[in-house]
Amino acid sequence: MIRIDQSKITQAAAQKLIATCPFGAISQDDKGNLVIGEGCRLCKQCLKADPAGALSLEVQENKAADIDSWSGITVVAEFLGGTLHPVTLELLGKARELSGGKMPISVILIGNETAEAAKTLSRQGADEVYVYDDKALHAFEPLRFSACAEDAIRRIRPAVVMIGATIAGRSLAPRLAARFKTGLTADCTLLEMRENGELLQTRPAFGGNVMASIVTRTRPQMCTVRYRVFDAPEAACSTTGRILQMELPAFDGRIEIVSAADKNAEKDLSEADAIVAVGRGCASRKNLEDAQKLAELLGARLGCTRPMVEAGHFDVKHQIGLSGRTVKPKYIIALGISGSVQFAAGMQATDLIIAVNNDPEASIFKIAHIGYCCDAGEFLPHLIEEIEQYKAKRKGAEEE
Ligand SMILES: Cc1cc2nc3c(=O)[nH]c(=O)nc-3n(C[C@H](O)[C@H](O)[C@H](O)COP(=O)(O)OP(=O)(O)OC[C@H]3O[C@@H](n4cnc5c(N)ncnc54)[C@H](O)[C@@H]3O)c2cc1C
Repeated sequence: MIRIDQSKITQAAAQKLIATCPFGAISQDDKGNLVIGEGCRLCKQCLKADPAGALSLEVQENKAADIDSWSGITVVAEFLGGTLHPVTLELLGKARELSGGKMPISVILIGNETAEAAKTLSRQGADEVYVYDDKALHAFEPLRFSACAEDAIRRIRPAVVMIGATIAGRSLAPRLAARFKTGLTADCTLLEMRENGELLQTRPAFGGNVMASIVTRTRPQMCTVRYRVFDAPEAACSTTGRILQMELPAFDGRIEIVSAADKNAEKDLSEADAIVAVGRGCASRKNLEDAQKLAELLGARLGCTRPMVEAGHFDVKHQIGLSGRTVKPKYIIALGISGSVQFAAGMQATDLIIAVNNDPEASIFKIAHIGYCCDAGEFLPHLIEEIEQYKAKRKGAEEE
């Protein structure tokens, strides 16, 4: 941290330092004292400019005693539009597993009209639910939500903070990590707790070719996890956690949300129970039309590989994989897809993978449960015909 010797600060020195800070983190209070606020990123530009020699850098050792004072696991819930995002329960389930009943689990719930969500969380394994409920929290505003989450984390002092890697979570997590000057591992696919309380955070690195396991030496240890990477707990707990209504922390807001509307009511691909996915080996117009028809017949959603997005066949929200969506449907039919590690990273937890590829050596066959080594363009009309005949027969039987 940067220490200030106020006795050396002249008005001219203060003005120079305020103008120097690229983050606008330096200001003067009403008594004329120089103040370095939370916006400080320790870039040290002020130390270089320091005209009066009033600033000094104080390096604080990360003492083991400090690490020991952080304990338990905290999940930051996502509650938007009156709904608890399912990733919250998945994280809570993982927290229960990591804790093994030995560590307290808490949830931070921020939003408006949260009563039902708080009860759900208290039944699903949270020992304590810290609730920040206010009209001002009806829509996600990163600074206001960060202020609430920061307030709770300072009170709880958890060793681990888990956040969903959703659009809101990805905005919240780095802000919190910066406020606590701690590390953040994004998009973890595996989490393990060591005996000494260190969280082993594993995520794909170098374009998905390597799985990196990361340990954070500071506290709290923060990570984000995508929706559908972990399973939500199947059953509620026998005990119910405490629900604590919190006061909103003082907040100097610069943004006011006047109204909020869903950009797109369409469900995210991550939520699909069945997916027909197409790759470069299924890119002809006829094949894409057939894939669409198959998806409609099955009540499935259409997904694709990255080259299909790059070729302009699909919007990026249809892309499955490392740089796309993580999906976990009951089944996926992968047509003309090679099965690269980057694609597989987003779908290999699928219950049933059916792959169609004309190359017997294609990697997709290594993860597929059922494989058809044939031309996707020939396979599709046959399957469509079979399903249509089956549906017609069933309809006939129902009418009789
Ligand atoms: C950092 C990084 C992130 C990435 N993120 C993603 C991501 O999120 N999602 C993603 O998908 N990719 C991603 N990629 C790209 C990835 O590496 C692959 O290039 C991509 O997944 C390949 O897509 P594909 O299977 O459609 O094409 P190809 O690899 O070209 O495979 C086409 C397959 O179709 C088969 N085929 C050809 N003709 C037929 C036919 N008539 N009938 C049946 N089969 C046929 C071929 O045998 C082949 O196996 C990423 C790459 C990098 C470097």
